Amino acid sequence: MKLILLGAPGAGKGTVAKLLTAIDGSVQISTGDILRGAVQAGTDLGKEAEGYMNRGDLVPDELIMGIMEKRLQEPDCEKGFLLDGFPRTIPQAEALQELLKKLDIDLDMVVNIDVPRDVIFDRLCTRRTCENPECQAIYNVKSNPPKKEGICDKCGSPVIQRADETEKAIGHRLDVYNEKTAPLVGFYEKEGKFHNITGISSDIVVAAIQKELRL
Ligand code: AMP
Repeated sequence: MKLILLGAPGAGKGTVAKLLTAIDGSVQISTGDILRGAVQAGTDLGKEAEGYMNRGDLVPDELIMGIMEKRLQEPDCEKGFLLDGFPRTIPQAEALQELLKKLDIDLDMVVNIDVPRDVIFDRLCTRRTCENPECQAIYNVKSNPPKKEGICDKCGSPVIQRADETEKAIGHRLDVYNEKTAPLVGFYEKEGKFHNITGISSDIVVAAIQKELRL
């Protein structure tokens, strides 16, 4: 499947993408994960992106399009892909349309995962992430803590609170989302293939997508 997953930070895009990859071998492409990997590795991209990310601001569109142009041409995308956290601005959405046309790729669906702001705020404040860039497993101190406090169940690396998941940064990220990313709903509604799914549970969101795509 070839999908765009829209939704605020903390709406569950990453969890839904991981569940969907298990269905047909599509790959999850998270620009946030790619950028965090670059920051940890200390690459030029990481150095340029780090300040924006820590403040909860968006990284400039040109940097993101450079990443995506390369990523979408990697062979593992042939089976399908789930775009998680991209596009995030109207210029990114427009550039993506050009890129997909150039690569002769048709999207199956654009899904907006709609979750109330108070649920999202609470989820992000209690979220913890494995700091290993190859893993980046997600935990929650309330609903899904690691078995051993502060240690990733999957790879044994430290589990941390991300710099952009303090209350202040989260408030800012949600404001940035409302200003820059929420307008994508109107953009894709006009384009067709758009589905709004209200869902606090990722399983319900996945079931709705499967039904729509007859998977
Ligand atoms: P995420 O994990 O998707 O919430 O992304 C974490 C941070 O990476 C965001 O707050 C932005 O600073 C940056 N980022 C990720 N994806 C994008 C994007 N498509 N456009 C601009 N910045 C992005």
